[in-house]
Amino acid sequence: MTVTLTKLNCPNCGAPLDWDGSYGKPVTCPYCGSTFMPGPTDVDDLWLFTDSVARARYEFKGTLDKLEHDIRYEVLRGGTWSNLDRQCKRELERLEREGLIRKLASFWALSPFPPVYRAKQEGELNFGGKRFRFNKGDELVWACPMTRDRFELDAPILIGDFASERVQRTCGEMADAMMGRMKTMLEE
Ligand SMILES: [Zn+2]
Repeated sequence: MTVTLTKLNCPNCGAPLDWDGSYGKPVTCPYCGSTFMPGPTDVDDLWLFTDSVARARYEFKGTLDKLEHDIRYEVLRGGTWSNLDRQCKRELERLEREGLIRKLASFWALSPFPPVYRAKQEGELNFGGKRFRFNKGDELVWACPMTRDRFELDAPILIGDFASERVQRTCGEMADAMMGRMKTMLEE
């Protein structure tokens, strides 16, 4: 089976890049200027952003290989997690350790199904040279590349009230619902 990849995320800043799909040819990111060599994805932390319950569900259904393929080719698009992705995850884990946020029982409805957190008090995430404030009751979730592209987010983090989107839906339905929610967030 041949998989044609036309999108790639910069491993340094996470920006979506156009890519002709050829390996072994250097790509320069127009946003941060870093140059890298795209290669077949070989990440040992493929499951870094997958909620453990979500992964267990796929395992139970015997379809874990499908999810793995999706993360490799649709989420990572032949690349690997960006530094911003990793920094965001570390910040979420720090806040959880410090008791400011707690992991909810459910997870985000889009692959790779990251955990969703709820803020127990106000606070902020600090990564990529920026601060992201949240209020008590807000939900926090790491934003996958697809979510970032669609809503033109500068950073891989969504903060808001997403309770109605947490149930699993098709991508299209969810995107519409999220779009309404995002508008509300931006107007606040
Ligand atoms: Zn870049």
